[in-house]
Parts: sequence; C-alpha cells; structure tokens
Amino acid sequence: MTDEQGQTTALSKYNTLKGIHDIFPPDVFVWNKIERTAKDLFYIFGYDEIKIPVMESTEVFTRSIGQSTDIVGKEMYTFTDKGDRSVTLRPEGTASVVRCYVENALNRRPAPQKFYYVGPMFRYERPQKGRMRQFYQIGAECFASASAEADAEILGILNEFFNKLKVPELRLEINSIGCKACRPDYNSALTRFFSQKEEFLCGDCRARLKKNPLRILDCKVESCGQLRKDAPLITDFLCENCKSHHERLRELLTSRGISFRDNPSIVRGLDYYTKTTFEITSEHLGAQNAVAAGGRYDNLVEEFGGPPTPAIGFAIGMERLAGLMKQFAPSPNTPFFYFAPLGEEALNIAISLAINLMDKNISSICTQWQMSLKGHMKRADKLNAEYVIMIGADEIQKNTAVWKHLSTGTQGEISIEDIGAFVTLHEKRLKAERS
Ligand code: ATP
Ligand code: MG
Repeated sequence: MTDEQGQTTALSKYNTLKGIHDIFPPDVFVWNKIERTAKDLFYIFGYDEIKIPVMESTEVFTRSIGQSTDIVGKEMYTFTDKGDRSVTLRPEGTASVVRCYVENALNRRPAPQKFYYVGPMFRYERPQKGRMRQFYQIGAECFASASAEADAEILGILNEFFNKLKVPELRLEINSIGCKACRPDYNSALTRFFSQKEEFLCGDCRARLKKNPLRILDCKVESCGQLRKDAPLITDFLCENCKSHHERLRELLTSRGISFRDNPSIVRGLDYYTKTTFEITSEHLGAQNAVAAGGRYDNLVEEFGGPPTPAIGFAIGMERLAGLMKQFAPSPNTPFFYFAPLGEEALNIAISLAINLMDKNISSICTQWQMSLKGHMKRADKLNAEYVIMIGADEIQKNTAVWKHLSTGTQGEISIEDIGAFVTLHEKRLKAERS
C-alpha cells in the first residue's frame, strides 16, 4: 500500500485469496493495451461486444462443458444461493454466450452473428505460474457459419492480434476431433486401446474410460501421458466431411501465410468441441504454455434448445499474454508531463495549466501541495515522467517556464502562453512513438 505521496505504508491485514491477483500500474497499462488492440480488431472484423454475467445457474456449465471434464469435475466455484439454487462463477465464456444467444434469439440477427467478451473467469485450480483461480479471458464466438472460412477467419483474427501486439515466436497447432458421425468410432477405438492398460491409468482416467475416453488424451498426469503415446489417432477416423473441412482450413491458412502445425493430440478440455480445435502456445511461458485456444462447437446451440447452428470461437488468456508482453515489449507508462511549481503562485498557475490540458485530453501531473525542486525531480523520476515543467519565482517574473526532458537532460525556457502548444506537440510525438 502507498499513501498520496507515494510512500509505502504498513502492510494491509487483508490479502487477496490464493490464486487471485490485483492488477495495478504499471502492469495495468499492458492490460489496457491488450484490450484496446483486441477491441479495435473486433470492430474491424465485425464482432460486437457481449457482456455476459459472472455467475450462472450451474447447469449452464455442467451440461455444456461436460461432467467428466476437469473444469466441471474439480474446478468450479459452485455454491447454493439464498434461494437454494446451485450457482457457479463462470469458468469460461462460451457456455454463457451460447445461453445468451439462445435465450435472446440472437440467431434472428443477420448471419453470421459475431460476438466478443472480455472479463474474469474462475477455476479452483492449483495456483502456479500462469494458472490462477481468477483469470481474465478475451473471447470471440462466431455463429451460423459451418464453413472452414469461418475457422480461418477466427485464426486470422488471432494471428493479426498477436502480430499487432508484436508477440514473437508463437506456435499455432490445429486438429480436428471429428463430429457426431465419426467420433463414436474413434471413442470405441480409444476404449479398446486403454482397456488393455486400465490398471496403469490414474483413478480419474479409469472413470473417464467408462464415460468419455477422449478425456484421457487431455489428462495432465505424467504416467497417463506416457500411456497415450501409442493411442489411435483421430486423424485415422475422420469422416469425409470432417476430413475435407480440415483440408480446406489447412489450404486457407497456407494461402493467407498463417503458419501452423497439425497436432492430433489437441482434444481440448471441454466436451462441446467438434471438428476444428486449436491452441496457440509460446515456449517462453513455461509449463502453462497455451496463450489462446478454441475450436468449433457445432452442436452446442442445439443442446441449449436453439436451432441447429454451427459455431466456432476462441479464448485468449490475458495473464499469460501480459506476461509475454512484459518479457518482449515492455510497455511504457502513460506519457506524463510533470509540473513542478515552486511557491504558492506558481502552484496556482501550474494547476490551471494542468486543468486546461485535461480539457484537451492530455495527461499531466501536477502536485496539489508545495514541494522543493529536489522533491519534485525525485517524484517526476519515480513516475517515469517524460518532461518536467518547472515554474519558480524567476519564471513568474518573466512569464515563462523551464522545461526539462528527463531521459536526455535537455532543457529550455518557454513562455507560459506557449506551454499548451508545447505540450500538445510533444504529447503527439510521444503517442506516435509509443503506439
Ligand atoms: P490449460 O491447458 O492451460 O489449462 P485450458 O484448456 O484449461 O488451458 P481454456 O479453457 O481453453 O484453457 O482457456 C483458454 C485460455 O485461457 C488458455 O489457453 C489460457 O491462456 C487461459 N487460461 C485457462 N485457465 C487458466 C488459468 N487457470 N489461469 C490463467 N489462465 C488460464
Ligand atoms: Mg485448464
């Protein structure tokens, strides 16, 4: 905790819950940049924002994500509310968007209907680097297009997004996990394969073998990972429709210069996926290496009671992305012009100058109390200010101010009337440099 003057005060006796973090300056500047970039891009691609609730009736998640998944089985924040209803803090966004789509008949809007959301998700996981109990996602969902073009658009948005943020060395891996027609055969093959190794599977996977063998491919236990090395591959079981869809997607990505790799083990940790699934990973993230993931879910709208509606979407993990950006593209602080007035009269002049700048949407800092020049310079430095504008008794006499560029040390004198123009000019230059 810090007081008004930026001094550290005693530690609070309350802390955030385990796995839950505050996000504050300077990190929040990186977060804002991520959000701004995503929103600008969604606008270009015709995606509208959708604000979904933070909690839903538990069934919204259990029925869509699947009973045998880790999320539903172990990770949900579920409680009974005062009306005796089972309520869950959303562990992901897609189920809520689909619930909203069906509940509000959004299918009546011109197709394809495209939405995006930004906000916190909650999973009771073991907290570690890149894995929190409250984490933020930016997600997008595109409804009513069954074509591989929609898949390519979704992956194109992600590609453009990470390029704009200059996140280097990401890897896109894609797969197809089949559809209602071909998945049952694959599930049978998996059941045959893992039944022979049942005694070596972990307890969860033994249960998965009975209920949903595909989930074994997603198990994080090391020994299960070893066992699945020789498991049958989904690629050998895809029906003609799924095969040609996947082939078309590969062609589209190649023709758009989006690099990818086929990885038949990407089955995703949620049950609703069909056909295309994908993950974007970075080797700079450590064990939790996926920064975004998603896929097609052609049956989910119908399962929620809506008309048959194919759909595809993705979710980006903001903590992991912000971590990567801090590593590669340190985002500068807001460009501060710091006013350093000496004496009461100078303070009044500086405050009115700062208010004028605020009217023009230019950020500047002006203390509201008197300080020595040394104190001002120390504070300006701490705040990472670009320019300090000093006004003292001499300057008031001459109706001027002294400006100093902190990182280069250059300085000069300027008349008070010209300060507005000076700041505007330099603010523009800074913004251009830093965008
Ligand atoms: P993982 O394999 O990393 O557990 P997941 O399959 O559970 O990911 P999704 O549900 O697809 O993840 O969520 C999409 C993205 O959200 C992930 O790629 C990741 O960047 C982020 N994410 C998921 N769970 C967490 C978490 N507990 N903490 C931080 N970020 C997360
Ligand atoms: Mg997970």
